[in-house]
Amino acid sequence: MNAQIKATCPYCGDVDLTTDDVVLHECSTAGLSYYAFVCSGCARSIRKPADTHVSTLLRTGGVKVEFWSIPQEAAEQHTGPALSVDDLLDFVIELHRTEDLAAAARRVATS
Ligand SMILES: [Zn+2]
Repeated sequence: MNAQIKATCPYCGDVDLTTDDVVLHECSTAGLSYYAFVCSGCARSIRKPADTHVSTLLRTGGVKVEFWSIPQEAAEQHTGPALSVDDLLDFVIELHRTEDLAAAARRVATS
């Protein structure tokens, strides 16, 4: 039998759910875990933060747990000026002029 879970929808208020209605999304980075459910009142997809206490409660209750991590690209340090709209337009124009995509990318990157 599924355990009953009380959750709060920002549109409907308190809603009753079962463990099958909730998925805990555990992130490898602290503070980014959340749980998600489709509200039984308004059918909206709801996401709520799940701190350590909430995660433990949901796990104990038997909800499905999915693990995720932030892509390494998001933590990369970037130097130099940000790509501008003009840079992007120049690149698109180059794409239409050449069949050699790698050479076009090198020219835009060094200009
Ligand atoms: Zn709702």
